[in-house]
Formats: sequence, C-alpha cells, structure tokens
Amino acid sequence: ATTPRVALVTGTSSGIGAAVVGQLREQGLQVMAVDFNPAGAVVAEKVGAVFHQADLTDADACRSAVADAVSRFGRVDILVNNAGIQHVAPIEEFPEQKWRQIIDLMLTAPFLLTQAAWPSMRENGWGRIINIASVHAQVASPGKAAYISAKHGLIGLTRTAALEGGAQGITANALLPAYVKTPLVDNQIADQAKLHGLSEQEVIEQVMLKNAAVKRLIEPSEVASLVAYLASDAAGAVTGASWNIDLGWTAQ
Ligand code: NAD
Repeated sequence: ATTPRVALVTGTSSGIGAAVVGQLREQGLQVMAVDFNPAGAVVAEKVGAVFHQADLTDADACRSAVADAVSRFGRVDILVNNAGIQHVAPIEEFPEQKWRQIIDLMLTAPFLLTQAAWPSMRENGWGRIINIASVHAQVASPGKAAYISAKHGLIGLTRTAALEGGAQGITANALLPAYVKTPLVDNQIADQAKLHGLSEQEVIEQVMLKNAAVKRLIEPSEVASLVAYLASDAAGAVTGASWNIDLGWTAQ
C-alpha cells in the first residue's frame, strides 16, 4: 500500500483553512496545519491533523514549518497557501507597517513556503501548490490596496510556479473566491455596517453581494472541495489556472 500524501496547509485556526484541513483529512491525507493562533491546535487535533505554530510573516518560521513537516512525514506533497488578513484604509492613510505585514504574509510567505517545499516535490516527481487568492486578485475595490496587491501578485507566483513545475510533476493553481462566510468576513460586515450606517444584513446584500449573480455568501466547505480536487491525481493536467468561485461576480 502506498503511504498517504502529505499536505501542509496555512491559516487553519478558522474559516477556509480549517475547512480545507477537515476535507483533506476526510480523504485520508496526512495534514500539517500551520497557524500563529494557538487555537489552531484544537482545530487540528479534532480531525487528526498535526499542528505547527508559526507566524508566517517571519521568513525563518516559514522555512521551519516545511522542515518540520518533512521531518515528521518524510515529505511535503501538497502546499495550500491560505493564511491571510485584511486591512481597510484609503491609500492616503494606509499604514506602511500594515502594507508590509500583508505583503509578507500573503505574498512573501507563499513564495518562501513554495521554495522550501519544492525539493521534496521535485524528488518525488509529484506536487500540488494551491494558492488561496481572491476575486480581489482580478478586480479591485477601494480601501484594500495591500490585500489586492498581494492577491494580484499571488497570481503571478502561481503562474510562474506552474511553468517551472510542469516538467517536474508539480502543478500550481489559484482559487479566487468572493465573500466566504468566515470570521474575516464577519469582521468586515461589522466594520462596513458602522462605516455606511447600514444594518449587517444590508451590508451583505448591498455591499458584498452587489456584483453577485448568486445572492448568498460562499461556504468554506465549497472552497475546500475545489482544493481537494486540485490536490488529487485527477487534476494533473490542470495548472497555472485561476479558479473563480465568485457567485458570478466577474461574469459581468
Ligand atoms: P480567517 O480569518 O478565518 O482565517 C485566516 C487564518 O490565517 C487564521 O487562522 C489566522 O490565524 C491565520 N493567520 C493570520 N495571520 C497569520 C500569521 N501571521 N501567521 C500564520 N497564520 C496567520 O480568514 P478566511 O476568510 O478563512 O481567509 C483565508 C484565506 O482566504 C485568506 O487568504 C483570504 O484572503 C482568502 N479569502 C477569503 C475570502 C472570504 O470572503 N473570507 C474571500 C476570498 C479570499
């Protein structure tokens, strides 16, 4: 019998990352869940994943996370770059420190983790890099300069990895969700309600779903299902692609 594949998933203490860890475990994969929030340990234990605590804005912490996975499981087959944060402010007032934190976490960490996991994937002639981008990798909204820049950059990293990995059995794809029901979005609903003087329901309907053909928020499990597909053998011909899960937002 072949040993189960090994996945390293970042940003796993809540939301999309927690759902991805759960689904990959359900499919029998070995999973290392990486998050700076110690609450991630409970989420991981519940589904039999290993937890590694790390602040991924730190370059050495990124490299150590991959080294830990390799020392525990012998390799890394699947890397899911998911950890992310948001900060909303107009460019004129956007704090430089927030800009750097967001670029470090959401663009530099995926690069460093990809770089660190690459030798293991290359040696095995099989690898999957799955980057959780956003509809904001394709379109902009005011007030989110750092997030949108990081996500647009992540598409460039995904495409480059796809080209370099093609001959080595390594695929790289990006997922571009619109608003998913997670703590990250709950916080934005509360903030925007205050900002626009609307109720939370009005924010969802008038702001978040303004461009959506399907008028509801996305479930984390819906994103996790696509991750599970892209992580599978069945997706070997799929690489360099940007997968919209955006309720039809970018169809117009
Ligand atoms: P979330 O806030 O529920 O989860 C983000 C995770 O990242 C948390 O577990 C958090 O602890 C972790 N994290 C934050 N800073 C970290 C750091 N420095 N080091 C390590 N871990 C850190 O958010 P989510 O909505 O599940 O978002 C996950 C990803 O999906 C993000 O990249 C986000 O940009 C993207 N995304 C979310 C939505 C949405 O509507 N929720 C839409 C499109 C894309």
